[in-house]
Amino acid sequence: MSKTRFTKPMYPTVYFSENILGKCPKCEGPCFVKTKLSKYTLPFPSDYSSSLHCQQCGFTKNKDEKWFGYCQGLLKIHCGFCGNKLLYSTKPTKKPYKKLSVKCPKCNVEKCYPLTWYRYKGNKPTDPYFGLELWLQVPVKDHILWVYNDAHLKYLKEYVSSDLREDDARHKYSLVSNLPQWIKSAKNKNLILKKLDILEEKLIKAGY
Ligand SMILES: [Zn+2]
Ligand SMILES: [Zn+2]
Repeated sequence: MSKTRFTKPMYPTVYFSENILGKCPKCEGPCFVKTKLSKYTLPFPSDYSSSLHCQQCGFTKNKDEKWFGYCQGLLKIHCGFCGNKLLYSTKPTKKPYKKLSVKCPKCNVEKCYPLTWYRYKGNKPTDPYFGLELWLQVPVKDHILWVYNDAHLKYLKEYVSSDLREDDARHKYSLVSNLPQWIKSAKNKNLILKKLDILEEKLIKAGY
């Protein structure tokens, strides 16, 4: 049998992000996050318009009305006692808190400092515009396999199922270069394809 070659362009992940299926925060049904990108500013665009709408319960939000996702707290302050510079970032959380107790490594005095919170868009199965949990996600061992939509799913499926994956055209933000090793690993190939099939069935069942 001849080997199949992955020949699709090296799209950045943001390329697939104009139509995302999220989990509705009200009814948990599929919720459409539609975004118009002005251009593909990488890794995520800053100039865009976005709205979410749940076809099941009618839940609607527009850009910047609400963030449902993870936040990361940052602390950048001078120690109140010795003036040593303190830099600290929290783990991403959905429940931000106001203050954090930090022990200065220089003078050992522990004190509460106010945190500044930022939207966290790192490696979580959430959409980058509202932070919704993605509707298309499935556990694979200790990991979560996720896709934004049907086109994203097909692209990933083609990549995973191909035997030859040349990476000449890869760039820092391409979807392929950002795939974790457990997805790229040849020994997980059949497992990943099976899981992608589960997501595809979910889409078909829901009529998308
Ligand atoms: Zn809903
Ligand atoms: Zn100190």
